[in-house]
Amino acid sequence: MPQGRLKFGEGKISGYVSIFLSLLSFFAVFCFKFPEWLTSPEFREVYTGESMMMLLTATIIASFFFALLSFMLSKQKKWALIGLVICTVTIFIGGFRVQGRSVEKTNWHLGLDWLLLDLLLMAVIFVPIEMVFPKNSKQTKFHEEWRTDLVYFVVSHLFIQFFGAITQQPAKLFFGWMGLSGLHQWVQNLPFVIELLFAFFITDLFQYWAHRFFHSHHYLWRFHSVHHSTKNMDWLAGSRTHFVDIFVTRSMAFIPLYVFGFSEITFNTYIVFMAIHAVLIHANTRINFGFLKYIIATPQYHHWHHCEDPRYYGKNFATIFPFIDKIFGTYYLPGNQWPEGTGLHEAYYPKGYLKQMIYPFTKSPFDSDLKMEDRTKR
Ligand SMILES: [Zn+2]
Ligand SMILES: [Zn+2]
Repeated sequence: MPQGRLKFGEGKISGYVSIFLSLLSFFAVFCFKFPEWLTSPEFREVYTGESMMMLLTATIIASFFFALLSFMLSKQKKWALIGLVICTVTIFIGGFRVQGRSVEKTNWHLGLDWLLLDLLLMAVIFVPIEMVFPKNSKQTKFHEEWRTDLVYFVVSHLFIQFFGAITQQPAKLFFGWMGLSGLHQWVQNLPFVIELLFAFFITDLFQYWAHRFFHSHHYLWRFHSVHHSTKNMDWLAGSRTHFVDIFVTRSMAFIPLYVFGFSEITFNTYIVFMAIHAVLIHANTRINFGFLKYIIATPQYHHWHHCEDPRYYGKNFATIFPFIDKIFGTYYLPGNQWPEGTGLHEAYYPKGYLKQMIYPFTKSPFDSDLKMEDRTKR
Protein backbone atom coordinates (compact mmCIF):
# COMPACT_ATOMS: atom_id res chain seq x y z
CA MET A 1 0.00 0.00 0.00
CA PRO A 2 1.28 3.47 -0.78
CA GLN A 3 2.37 5.53 2.20
CA GLY A 4 2.04 9.03 0.77
CA ARG A 5 -0.70 10.80 -1.07
CA LEU A 6 -1.31 9.79 -4.66
CA LYS A 7 -0.29 12.21 -7.40
CA PHE A 8 -1.85 12.82 -10.78
CA GLY A 9 -0.05 11.43 -13.82
CA GLU A 10 1.57 8.40 -12.18
CA GLY A 11 -1.02 5.93 -13.38
CA LYS A 12 -1.81 4.77 -9.87
CA ILE A 13 -5.04 6.73 -9.45
CA SER A 14 -6.37 5.46 -12.77
CA GLY A 15 -5.29 1.96 -11.76
CA TYR A 16 -7.21 2.13 -8.49
CA VAL A 17 -10.24 3.63 -10.23
CA SER A 18 -10.18 0.78 -12.71
CA ILE A 19 -10.01 -1.84 -9.94
CA PHE A 20 -12.75 -0.09 -7.96
CA LEU A 21 -15.13 0.13 -10.93
CA SER A 22 -14.42 -3.43 -12.06
CA LEU A 23 -15.16 -4.75 -8.57
CA LEU A 24 -18.46 -2.83 -8.46
CA SER A 25 -19.40 -4.28 -11.86
CA PHE A 26 -18.41 -7.77 -10.79
CA PHE A 27 -20.73 -7.70 -7.75
CA ALA A 28 -23.47 -5.90 -9.70
CA VAL A 29 -23.77 -8.91 -12.01
CA PHE A 30 -24.90 -10.96 -9.00
CA CYS A 31 -27.63 -8.39 -8.26
CA PHE A 32 -29.05 -9.16 -11.71
CA LYS A 33 -28.67 -12.90 -11.26
CA PHE A 34 -30.17 -13.15 -7.76
CA PRO A 35 -32.32 -10.02 -7.32
CA GLU A 36 -34.63 -11.74 -4.80
CA TRP A 37 -31.82 -12.11 -2.31
CA LEU A 38 -29.42 -9.32 -3.18
CA THR A 39 -31.59 -6.28 -3.93
CA SER A 40 -34.00 -4.32 -1.77
CA PRO A 41 -37.70 -4.05 -2.74
CA GLU A 42 -37.87 -0.36 -1.71
CA PHE A 43 -34.93 0.41 -3.93
CA ARG A 44 -36.18 -1.64 -6.89
CA GLU A 45 -39.13 0.74 -7.07
CA VAL A 46 -36.76 3.67 -7.56
CA TYR A 47 -34.71 2.33 -10.47
CA THR A 48 -35.50 0.25 -13.54
CA GLY A 49 -33.66 -2.86 -14.67
CA GLU A 50 -32.89 -1.11 -17.93
CA SER A 51 -31.23 1.93 -16.34
CA MET A 52 -29.14 -0.36 -14.15
CA MET A 53 -28.05 -2.38 -17.21
CA MET A 54 -26.91 0.83 -18.87
CA LEU A 55 -25.05 1.84 -15.72
CA LEU A 56 -23.37 -1.56 -15.51
CA THR A 57 -22.27 -1.40 -19.15
CA ALA A 58 -20.94 2.13 -18.66
CA THR A 59 -19.07 1.10 -15.50
CA ILE A 60 -17.38 -1.84 -17.23
CA ILE A 61 -16.35 0.36 -20.17
CA ALA A 62 -15.07 3.08 -17.80
CA SER A 63 -13.08 0.48 -15.90
CA PHE A 64 -11.45 -0.66 -19.17
CA PHE A 65 -10.69 2.94 -20.04
CA PHE A 66 -8.97 3.63 -16.70
CA ALA A 67 -7.03 0.36 -16.94
CA LEU A 68 -5.76 1.51 -20.33
CA LEU A 69 -4.87 4.92 -18.94
CA SER A 70 -3.00 3.36 -16.04
CA PHE A 71 -1.21 1.04 -18.45
CA MET A 72 0.05 4.02 -20.45
CA LEU A 73 0.98 6.23 -17.49
CA SER A 74 2.50 3.83 -15.02
CA LYS A 75 5.71 1.85 -15.14
CA GLN A 76 4.03 -0.63 -12.85
CA LYS A 77 1.48 -2.52 -14.90
CA LYS A 78 -0.06 -4.54 -12.08
CA TRP A 79 -2.90 -2.10 -11.26
CA ALA A 80 -4.06 -2.01 -14.88
CA LEU A 81 -3.71 -5.75 -15.07
CA ILE A 82 -5.82 -6.42 -11.96
CA GLY A 83 -8.55 -4.08 -13.32
CA LEU A 84 -8.46 -5.82 -16.68
CA VAL A 85 -8.66 -9.30 -15.18
CA ILE A 86 -11.66 -8.44 -12.97
CA CYS A 87 -13.36 -6.75 -15.94
CA THR A 88 -12.81 -9.79 -18.13
CA VAL A 89 -14.20 -12.12 -15.47
CA THR A 90 -17.20 -9.77 -15.08
CA ILE A 91 -17.93 -9.96 -18.80
CA PHE A 92 -17.39 -13.70 -18.74
CA ILE A 93 -20.04 -14.19 -16.02
CA GLY A 94 -22.49 -12.04 -17.99
CA GLY A 95 -21.59 -8.37 -17.44
CA PHE A 96 -22.91 -7.35 -20.86
CA ARG A 97 -25.74 -9.87 -21.08
CA VAL A 98 -27.62 -9.69 -17.77
CA GLN A 99 -31.11 -8.23 -17.78
CA GLY A 100 -33.52 -6.92 -15.20
CA ARG A 101 -36.59 -9.08 -14.59
CA SER A 102 -39.66 -9.08 -12.39
CA VAL A 103 -38.92 -10.22 -8.87
CA GLU A 104 -40.99 -11.95 -6.24
CA LYS A 105 -40.68 -10.49 -2.80
CA THR A 106 -38.84 -12.66 -0.30
CA ASN A 107 -38.75 -12.55 3.47
CA TRP A 108 -35.20 -11.43 3.71
CA HIS A 109 -32.66 -9.85 1.39
CA LEU A 110 -29.31 -8.14 1.42
CA GLY A 111 -28.97 -4.57 0.19
CA LEU A 112 -26.16 -5.27 -2.28
CA ASP A 113 -27.76 -2.93 -4.84
CA TRP A 114 -27.86 -0.13 -2.24
CA LEU A 115 -24.27 -0.84 -1.23
CA LEU A 116 -22.90 -0.73 -4.78
CA LEU A 117 -24.91 2.30 -5.90
CA ASP A 118 -24.19 4.34 -2.78
CA LEU A 119 -20.51 3.41 -2.85
CA LEU A 120 -20.29 4.46 -6.51
CA LEU A 121 -22.20 7.71 -5.94
CA MET A 122 -20.25 8.70 -2.82
CA ALA A 123 -16.92 7.89 -4.47
CA VAL A 124 -17.85 9.88 -7.59
CA ILE A 125 -18.84 12.90 -5.48
CA PHE A 126 -16.27 12.85 -2.69
CA VAL A 127 -13.05 11.33 -4.01
CA PRO A 128 -12.54 14.19 -6.54
CA ILE A 129 -13.52 16.78 -3.89
CA GLU A 130 -11.00 15.35 -1.42
CA MET A 131 -8.30 15.27 -4.08
CA VAL A 132 -8.81 18.81 -5.33
CA PHE A 133 -9.87 20.61 -2.11
CA PRO A 134 -8.35 18.57 0.72
CA LYS A 135 -8.33 19.80 4.30
CA ASN A 136 -5.41 17.67 5.30
CA SER A 137 -3.35 17.46 2.14
CA LYS A 138 -0.93 14.90 3.60
CA GLN A 139 -3.62 12.37 4.42
CA THR A 140 -3.89 9.43 2.07
CA LYS A 141 -7.06 7.51 1.24
CA PHE A 142 -5.20 4.37 2.16
CA HIS A 143 -4.47 5.25 5.76
CA GLU A 144 -4.10 2.38 8.20
CA GLU A 145 -7.79 2.04 9.01
CA TRP A 146 -9.49 2.54 5.67
CA ARG A 147 -10.29 -1.15 5.39
CA THR A 148 -12.04 -1.14 8.77
CA ASP A 149 -14.07 1.91 7.74
CA LEU A 150 -15.01 0.19 4.50
CA VAL A 151 -16.22 -2.86 6.43
CA TYR A 152 -18.48 -0.56 8.50
CA PHE A 153 -19.83 0.94 5.28
CA VAL A 154 -20.42 -2.50 3.74
CA VAL A 155 -22.16 -3.95 6.80
CA SER A 156 -24.53 -1.02 7.35
CA HIS A 157 -25.56 -1.14 3.67
CA LEU A 158 -25.80 -4.90 3.18
CA PHE A 159 -28.00 -5.33 6.25
CA ILE A 160 -30.24 -2.38 5.45
CA GLN A 161 -33.37 -4.51 5.90
CA PHE A 162 -32.33 -5.47 9.42
CA PHE A 163 -31.25 -1.95 10.40
CA GLY A 164 -34.43 -0.49 8.91
CA ALA A 165 -36.66 -2.94 10.77
CA ILE A 166 -35.09 -2.52 14.19
CA THR A 167 -34.92 1.29 14.06
CA GLN A 168 -38.68 1.39 13.47
CA GLN A 169 -39.54 -0.79 16.45
CA PRO A 170 -39.28 1.72 19.33
CA ALA A 171 -41.45 4.29 17.50
CA LYS A 172 -44.08 1.66 16.69
CA LEU A 173 -43.98 0.24 20.20
CA PHE A 174 -44.42 3.56 21.99
CA PHE A 175 -46.60 5.48 19.55
CA GLY A 176 -48.21 2.81 17.37
CA TRP A 177 -51.35 2.69 19.53
CA MET A 178 -52.14 6.38 19.09
CA GLY A 179 -54.56 7.55 16.44
CA LEU A 180 -52.24 9.75 14.44
CA SER A 181 -53.90 9.88 11.03
CA GLY A 182 -55.38 13.36 11.64
CA LEU A 183 -51.93 14.72 12.46
CA HIS A 184 -50.43 12.94 9.43
CA GLN A 185 -52.98 14.53 7.16
CA TRP A 186 -52.31 17.98 8.58
CA VAL A 187 -48.53 17.58 8.17
CA GLN A 188 -48.86 16.25 4.64
CA ASN A 189 -51.00 19.23 3.64
CA LEU A 190 -48.28 21.70 4.62
CA PRO A 191 -46.38 23.36 1.76
CA PHE A 192 -43.52 21.06 0.73
CA VAL A 193 -40.67 23.37 1.82
CA ILE A 194 -42.23 23.93 5.25
CA GLU A 195 -42.86 20.22 5.71
CA LEU A 196 -39.30 19.42 4.68
CA LEU A 197 -37.70 22.02 6.97
CA PHE A 198 -39.90 20.84 9.82
CA ALA A 199 -38.84 17.23 9.20
CA PHE A 200 -35.17 18.25 9.18
CA PHE A 201 -35.55 20.31 12.33
CA ILE A 202 -37.52 17.85 14.42
CA THR A 203 -35.35 14.84 13.52
CA ASP A 204 -32.20 16.86 14.19
CA LEU A 205 -33.55 17.89 17.57
CA PHE A 206 -34.15 14.25 18.54
CA GLN A 207 -30.83 13.26 17.06
CA TYR A 208 -29.10 16.06 19.02
CA TRP A 209 -30.29 14.74 22.37
CA ALA A 210 -29.60 11.11 21.51
CA HIS A 211 -26.10 12.13 20.45
CA ARG A 212 -25.53 14.21 23.58
CA PHE A 213 -26.82 11.36 25.70
CA PHE A 214 -24.14 9.12 24.18
CA HIS A 215 -21.52 11.65 25.17
CA SER A 216 -22.66 12.07 28.75
CA HIS A 217 -23.15 8.50 29.98
CA HIS A 218 -20.13 6.38 30.67
CA TYR A 219 -21.47 3.14 29.33
CA LEU A 220 -23.01 4.67 26.21
CA TRP A 221 -19.91 6.74 25.54
CA ARG A 222 -17.94 3.52 25.10
CA PHE A 223 -20.08 2.73 22.06
CA HIS A 224 -20.18 6.21 20.55
CA SER A 225 -16.47 6.77 21.14
CA VAL A 226 -15.84 4.18 18.41
CA HIS A 227 -17.15 6.81 15.99
CA HIS A 228 -14.78 9.34 17.53
CA SER A 229 -11.76 7.07 17.33
CA THR A 230 -10.97 8.02 13.75
CA LYS A 231 -7.80 10.03 13.33
CA ASN A 232 -8.25 10.30 9.59
CA MET A 233 -11.45 12.13 8.80
CA ASP A 234 -12.62 11.33 5.30
CA TRP A 235 -15.70 10.31 3.34
CA LEU A 236 -15.58 6.77 4.69
CA ALA A 237 -14.79 7.71 8.30
CA GLY A 238 -18.38 8.64 9.22
CA SER A 239 -19.38 5.03 8.60
CA ARG A 240 -17.40 3.93 11.64
CA THR A 241 -20.35 3.80 13.99
CA HIS A 242 -21.07 1.06 16.50
CA PHE A 243 -24.21 -0.99 16.01
CA VAL A 244 -25.67 0.13 19.37
CA ASP A 245 -25.04 3.76 18.38
CA ILE A 246 -26.76 3.31 14.99
CA PHE A 247 -29.73 1.59 16.60
CA VAL A 248 -30.36 4.17 19.32
CA THR A 249 -29.63 7.32 17.31
CA ARG A 250 -31.61 6.23 14.26
CA SER A 251 -34.50 4.99 16.36
CA MET A 252 -34.66 8.37 18.06
CA ALA A 253 -34.61 10.22 14.73
CA PHE A 254 -37.30 7.87 13.43
CA ILE A 255 -39.73 8.68 16.25
CA PRO A 256 -40.72 12.15 14.93
CA LEU A 257 -40.80 10.81 11.36
CA TYR A 258 -43.25 8.17 12.52
CA VAL A 259 -45.37 10.36 14.76
CA PHE A 260 -45.75 13.22 12.27
CA GLY A 261 -46.14 10.91 9.28
CA PHE A 262 -44.41 13.04 6.68
CA SER A 263 -45.31 12.58 3.03
CA GLU A 264 -43.34 10.10 0.95
CA ILE A 265 -41.53 12.82 -1.01
CA THR A 266 -40.44 14.54 2.22
CA PHE A 267 -39.35 11.25 3.76
CA ASN A 268 -37.34 10.26 0.68
CA THR A 269 -35.76 13.70 0.35
CA TYR A 270 -34.74 13.45 4.00
CA ILE A 271 -33.14 10.01 3.48
CA VAL A 272 -31.21 11.10 0.37
CA PHE A 273 -30.09 14.35 2.00
CA MET A 274 -28.88 12.55 5.14
CA ALA A 275 -27.05 9.87 3.11
CA ILE A 276 -25.00 12.54 1.30
CA HIS A 277 -24.70 15.12 4.07
CA ALA A 278 -23.50 12.65 6.71
CA VAL A 279 -20.67 11.68 4.39
CA LEU A 280 -19.89 15.30 3.54
CA ILE A 281 -19.42 16.50 7.13
CA HIS A 282 -16.77 13.83 7.75
CA ALA A 283 -14.99 14.36 4.44
CA ASN A 284 -11.41 15.53 4.26
CA THR A 285 -12.23 18.78 2.50
CA ARG A 286 -11.71 22.41 3.31
CA ILE A 287 -14.75 23.55 1.28
CA ASN A 288 -16.51 25.89 3.66
CA PHE A 289 -19.81 26.88 1.96
CA GLY A 290 -19.50 30.63 2.72
CA PHE A 291 -22.25 32.01 4.91
CA LEU A 292 -24.16 28.71 4.57
CA LYS A 293 -21.89 27.32 7.28
CA TYR A 294 -23.91 29.25 9.84
CA ILE A 295 -27.14 27.66 8.63
CA ILE A 296 -26.15 24.12 7.91
CA ALA A 297 -23.49 21.81 9.38
CA THR A 298 -20.30 21.73 7.29
CA PRO A 299 -17.11 19.63 7.44
CA GLN A 300 -15.40 22.32 9.55
CA TYR A 301 -18.31 22.27 12.00
CA HIS A 302 -18.37 18.53 12.44
CA HIS A 303 -14.58 18.15 12.46
CA TRP A 304 -14.66 20.31 15.62
CA HIS A 305 -17.02 17.76 17.11
CA HIS A 306 -14.31 15.17 16.43
CA CYS A 307 -11.51 17.36 17.84
CA GLU A 308 -8.86 15.34 19.64
CA ASP A 309 -8.13 18.00 22.26
CA PRO A 310 -10.31 17.31 25.35
CA ARG A 311 -10.76 21.05 25.88
CA TYR A 312 -13.10 21.05 22.88
CA TYR A 313 -15.02 17.89 23.70
CA GLY A 314 -18.78 18.20 23.85
CA LYS A 315 -19.35 20.68 21.02
CA ASN A 316 -21.48 20.64 17.88
CA PHE A 317 -23.80 17.71 18.48
CA ALA A 318 -26.31 18.71 15.80
CA THR A 319 -26.08 16.94 12.47
CA ILE A 320 -27.94 19.41 10.27
CA PHE A 321 -28.65 22.72 12.01
CA PRO A 322 -25.91 24.50 14.03
CA PHE A 323 -28.52 26.75 15.64
CA ILE A 324 -29.68 23.78 17.72
CA ASP A 325 -26.24 23.79 19.34
CA LYS A 326 -26.54 27.55 19.76
CA ILE A 327 -29.81 27.13 21.65
CA PHE A 328 -28.37 24.53 24.02
CA GLY A 329 -24.97 26.18 24.49
CA THR A 330 -22.78 23.64 22.71
CA TYR A 331 -21.96 25.63 19.56
CA TYR A 332 -18.31 26.10 18.57
CA LEU A 333 -17.10 27.45 15.23
CA PRO A 334 -14.09 29.76 15.56
CA GLY A 335 -13.79 31.71 12.30
CA ASN A 336 -11.83 29.76 9.73
CA GLN A 337 -9.92 27.71 12.28
CA TRP A 338 -9.96 23.92 12.15
CA PRO A 339 -9.06 21.47 14.91
CA GLU A 340 -5.42 20.43 14.84
CA GLY A 341 -6.22 16.78 15.13
CA THR A 342 -9.20 14.47 15.37
CA GLY A 343 -9.55 11.29 17.37
CA LEU A 344 -9.54 10.45 21.06
CA HIS A 345 -7.16 11.19 23.84
CA GLU A 346 -5.77 8.21 25.71
CA ALA A 347 -8.11 5.65 24.28
CA TYR A 348 -7.42 2.09 23.30
CA TYR A 349 -9.40 0.24 20.65
CA PRO A 350 -8.74 -3.16 19.17
CA LYS A 351 -8.28 -3.06 15.39
CA GLY A 352 -10.91 -4.38 13.03
CA TYR A 353 -14.68 -4.32 12.77
CA LEU A 354 -15.64 -7.40 14.78
CA LYS A 355 -13.36 -6.67 17.71
CA GLN A 356 -14.58 -3.07 17.86
CA MET A 357 -18.16 -4.36 17.86
CA ILE A 358 -17.68 -6.63 20.86
CA TYR A 359 -15.16 -4.65 22.88
CA PRO A 360 -17.31 -1.80 24.32
CA PHE A 361 -19.85 -4.24 25.78
CA THR A 362 -17.38 -5.55 28.30
CA LYS A 363 -14.46 -3.14 28.38
CA SER A 364 -13.87 0.56 28.36
CA PRO A 365 -11.47 1.97 25.78
CA PHE A 366 -10.39 4.54 28.39
CA ASP A 367 -8.11 4.17 31.40
CA SER A 368 -10.63 6.10 33.43
CA ASP A 369 -14.30 6.19 32.62
CA LEU A 370 -14.60 9.64 34.07
CA LYS A 371 -12.19 11.41 31.79
CA MET A 372 -14.71 12.59 29.25
CA GLU A 373 -17.26 13.89 31.71
CA ASP A 374 -14.71 15.40 34.05
CA ARG A 375 -13.51 17.64 31.33
CA THR A 376 -16.74 18.58 29.68
CA LYS A 377 -18.87 18.80 32.84
CA ARG A 378 -21.88 17.20 31.21
ZN1 LIG B 1 -20.19 12.47 18.99
ZN1 LIG C 1 -19.02 12.23 13.21
